[in-house]
Amino acid sequence: MTNADNFVDSTEIRPVSSKSLYDKCWELAHNLWWSWHPDVIAMFRDLAPERWRKLDHNPIALLREFTPEALETRASEMVLESRINYAYRRMNQYMDSRPEWAAQNVGVLGSKPVAYFSLEFGIHESVPIYSGGLGILAGDHVKSASGLGVPLVAVGLFYDQGYFKQFLDHEGWQQEEYLRTNIDNLPMQPVFDKEGQRLIVKIETDSGAIHARVWKMQVGRVDLYLLDCDLPENGESDRGLTSRLYGGDSRMRIRQEMVVGIGGVRALHALGIHPGVFHLNEGHCAFATLEAVRCAMEDDGISFDEAVRRIAQATCFTTHTPVPAGHDRFAPDLVQEHLGPLQRQLGIDFHQLMSMGRVDVNDHGEYFCMTVLGLKLSRRANAVSCLHGIVSRKMWAPLWPKRSENEVPIGHITNGVHLASWLAWQMQTLFDRYFKPDWIDRHWLPETWNEVEKIDPGELWETHLTLKSLMLEFVERRVKRQSARRGENREISMDPNVLTIGFARRFATYKRATLMMQDFDRLLRMMDDAKRPIQFVFAGKAHPQDKPGKEFIQRITQLAKDERFHNRFVFVEDYDINVARHLVQGVDVWLNNPRRPLEASGTSGQKALLNGVLNCSILDGWWAEAFDGSNGFAIGSGSSHADDAKTDARDAASLMDVLENQVIPMYYHRDSDGLPHFWIRRMMNSLRTMAWRFSAQRMVADYVLEAYLPAAGGVTCDMNFRQ
Ligand SMILES: *Cc1c(COP(=O)(O)O)cnc(C)c1O
Repeated sequence: MTNADNFVDSTEIRPVSSKSLYDKCWELAHNLWWSWHPDVIAMFRDLAPERWRKLDHNPIALLREFTPEALETRASEMVLESRINYAYRRMNQYMDSRPEWAAQNVGVLGSKPVAYFSLEFGIHESVPIYSGGLGILAGDHVKSASGLGVPLVAVGLFYDQGYFKQFLDHEGWQQEEYLRTNIDNLPMQPVFDKEGQRLIVKIETDSGAIHARVWKMQVGRVDLYLLDCDLPENGESDRGLTSRLYGGDSRMRIRQEMVVGIGGVRALHALGIHPGVFHLNEGHCAFATLEAVRCAMEDDGISFDEAVRRIAQATCFTTHTPVPAGHDRFAPDLVQEHLGPLQRQLGIDFHQLMSMGRVDVNDHGEYFCMTVLGLKLSRRANAVSCLHGIVSRKMWAPLWPKRSENEVPIGHITNGVHLASWLAWQMQTLFDRYFKPDWIDRHWLPETWNEVEKIDPGELWETHLTLKSLMLEFVERRVKRQSARRGENREISMDPNVLTIGFARRFATYKRATLMMQDFDRLLRMMDDAKRPIQFVFAGKAHPQDKPGKEFIQRITQLAKDERFHNRFVFVEDYDINVARHLVQGVDVWLNNPRRPLEASGTSGQKALLNGVLNCSILDGWWAEAFDGSNGFAIGSGSSHADDAKTDARDAASLMDVLENQVIPMYYHRDSDGLPHFWIRRMMNSLRTMAWRFSAQRMVADYVLEAYLPAAGGVTCDMNFRQ
């Protein structure tokens, strides 16, 4: 991995003491390590709190508003010198150290790193190259690999317009706005080749070549390489190829996927990085396998068949969706146009190429499916929760006609979240007082959370209320701002004593954001209850082409304006990591009601539980394996009707029952000391039984032990690592 550093314009090495505060801040801002250290974030914020907020929490943009002298002055006014020095020292210590876990566990990966491919990475709100859960998961994977010291390089695309900004018009209809990100404000360094030229990779197609330049972002100890097509070498239309995430038609999509997969492998090759493992985060990146096969044939003079065996052995594939439309499929002529050159270099015919992406290789009309390619060209494939494993084995059983469904070689590794990114510092400080000193390093081990029992219930509750108030203030501020934008000047005041339910995620229809509205009168009664009312905070974007998803949003905004609901329905626009962080840290209940079994895992509820928020969820995705009867609330009994309408009606009734008979009474039941002891008991159960298990560090450790090491070590016998 370090080979790569030779080609990167790295800052010269000087004795630490000679660096100015400005230089130290600049270096801190250029390693996204800062993004999961609340004290470092607070340090940047305190340099200029108003600007910090305006600049989307972007430290580089902030620093560019200071001269080094002005920064010195400001730092001394705010007594920030020692905080800057301390942060700087800690970051360097982090970068120079090798975690014990890695020393003991990474084995052969030490010389042959993992190459992790993903179309999106959600690391921080100031780096807008993600859209939702898949990207956040990739970001959390990278951060956790850094934390454990796993040798891993990540590969993705740089989108200069990212995903859209959402705002709602007077009718509550979602509008999309694409803003150009200023590259100078991002922690990206240009990457150079061995001759000191800007590294540009070229990807041939039968209708001309696509060029992409390479950037590097530092995420703790992990290098994240991002490819970007905005180059004069490209024609006008290709210059915008990587402008937007999920913005184009299937032609644009196949070209993007070639850039990340084929271009990504070429970039690593050019940098002298020789991965021992290829990890494909979803089918989008599966072209990487074909390019890796080509490289193996060229470098080692082996046959196509042998190269396929070798690359499949080294490849781990993670599938993320049981929704059929979620799998990319390309028409044969589109594949021919784009993969023609690669197919000829591989020495295979077009039919052979198409076979790698087809379930039925004899069906010449079948489209080329990226998930099929990923499954065929990897020796290890996994789903992202136990239930999703079952669903995926069923879904892809036709690929293994000789096997029974439960012998289909797709295992599962359940998703998790990066604790330091999602845990509120107030909660962390509370845990610090009760847990053993290095608990954060061991947070993914079950014994760490036994200490939860020692926490004083009153303190846990007070901490939660603090976070709840901060969240409600944030929501009020946002509502004021977004209504001002529409010229409506609406202001609301939210009562912290009211049971507050959060629902924030993409507005895909299967997530059923409006399920609670099926029995409108019953809902109204609950929200209008004088003694025990409830309120909802919503957020989430619908895909620009998803009309039903947008209708869900509109429905919610109508209720938000309906006086009978007393402002107890609130929609926060432009859901992103920042909004997510506020909501998962401050609501009382996190609601999740997808149509089972379509939520592969879900991760937002895992973020919520870390902060003492209780989950109330359909038994789908991660919750199907997490709920134990006393660590949250379950909607339904974990079964679905063949008829969607019946499932929806049944789940809606169950949701209302759970709220009315369990959630609301438990929340409002107070003992003589004013505390909801039954509720707090559940918060503690939730933390103790789940905080370690749904950690991304546990997840990455599982990937290392169950997927990466066998893949890198050439262990071929175990194709099914189902737990
Ligand atoms: C965590 C997160 C998601 C994923 O949430 P799900 O519950 O898995 O749908 C999506 N968007 C943002 C901004 C997130 O932080």
